Amino acid sequence: MYSVHEICRERSRQFPKGFSHFIKRASMDFELTRQQKLARKIAREFAERELAPHAQQWDEEMTFPSEALKKMGPLGFMGISIPKQYEGAGLDGISYVLIIEELARCCASTAIIVSVHNSVGAYPIYALGNEQQKQKYLPDLCSGRKLGAFALTEPNAGSDPASLETMAEPCGDHFLLNGVKTFITSGSTCDTVIVMAATKREKKSRGITAFIVERGTPGFSVGAKENKLGIRASDTCELIFENCRIPAENVLGEVGAGLTAALGALTFGRVGVGAQALGVARCAMEECVRYSQERKQFGKPLASFQALQWMIADMATQIEAARMLIFKAAWLKDNGKPFAAEASMAKLYASETAMNTATKAVQIHGGYGCMKDYKVERCFRDAKVIEIYEGTSEIQRLIIARNTIK
Ligand SMILES: Cc1cc2nc3c(=O)[nH]c(=O)nc-3n(C[C@H](O)[C@H](O)[C@H](O)COP(=O)(O)OP(=O)(O)OC[C@H]3O[C@@H](n4cnc5c(N)ncnc54)[C@H](O)[C@@H]3O)c2cc1C
Repeated sequence: MYSVHEICRERSRQFPKGFSHFIKRASMDFELTRQQKLARKIAREFAERELAPHAQQWDEEMTFPSEALKKMGPLGFMGISIPKQYEGAGLDGISYVLIIEELARCCASTAIIVSVHNSVGAYPIYALGNEQQKQKYLPDLCSGRKLGAFALTEPNAGSDPASLETMAEPCGDHFLLNGVKTFITSGSTCDTVIVMAATKREKKSRGITAFIVERGTPGFSVGAKENKLGIRASDTCELIFENCRIPAENVLGEVGAGLTAALGALTFGRVGVGAQALGVARCAMEECVRYSQERKQFGKPLASFQALQWMIADMATQIEAARMLIFKAAWLKDNGKPFAAEASMAKLYASETAMNTATKAVQIHGGYGCMKDYKVERCFRDAKVIEIYEGTSEIQRLIIARNTIK
């Protein structure tokens, strides 16, 4: 029987310089690469300069951050994981989550626009599209000249997307799209949207097809913009398709394989949403650290009260644990390994960490935490929304359970 002592002896023979050398070679690497650190630095500096000063007002007025988005194209934030040949930045998944976290720390709304655009608006075209589709759509999306969206949810199909009712009937060299999509991020501002529709309703989940739909296509219109609890600067709309003619060449991937494609895209998307939640949690904790040192009660700073110190200690611990889950999921993706359960764990844990952290952050700020002038009030509202989109916490638990109880 081979034991760990044998492994150790074998490695020691391989590396005769001594134990410390062996430990160095065998240890797990938690260090970011130079490229990853640089991506984080660029995103942090950009977010602090271009997002933080405006986030409060954008939230209050539900202002879509168009100018900031325009500046992100040249930085490579709009095609983070797509190769350079399509004008993407060609970065790995770890760099991707670092960038989203930094954007979310300053403006969670901007972070979700970028996350949706990258992970479910553009990436499926790279992963599933034919060369003609990649050439046609990716350079504009990756450079930020155009914005992407993703439409799966319908009024009667949310957590259960296989029950969607939007139909795409084949009609010569095109499909006729009819139906309504709801709660679509960047719905009124996007240039292209990947729409899931049933091409064979009787086949249920295996009868759903993905289409690339361009803004301006006759029969495609935008309904009312939602007035939301949080993530208010991102536009969330209803999309209406009435006899909308989609050329057959705009089918993304295979006919009938759309739901698999959608769920695959959402898996990657969930890691990004986890990173978004992490950014919100960090913002809330940093505000608490600062505020609790400034604010005095009973003649002492709040930070001197152990009850509040423990709240901050829990925040720091959960944030670190969330970060590890997010990195693990991104690492698995980068290494071509299955990561569906890990993506769900990352999204679930990070979004619940954001909610817990923001709730405690409001508590630490007392009455001021309920006022719109304080960032923690916005974090609290944003965190609640993050627990819902790209799959609710219950749906993440369902996926994790399915992968655990086999
Ligand atoms: C701000 C925002 C942006 C969004 N952006 C997009 C977008 O860009 N594109 C897109 O397609 N969609 C988008 N969505 C939709 C989002 O993904 C759905 O809202 C979400 O998946 C939940 O669906 P639902 O709202 O229909 O809730 P429902 O599915 O009706 O769920 C209601 C409740 O029941 C629970 N539930 C449902 N089924 C089960 C089950 N089997 N077991 C246990 N509990 C269950 C849910 O967890 C939830 O608590 C967005 C939503 C929001 C709020």
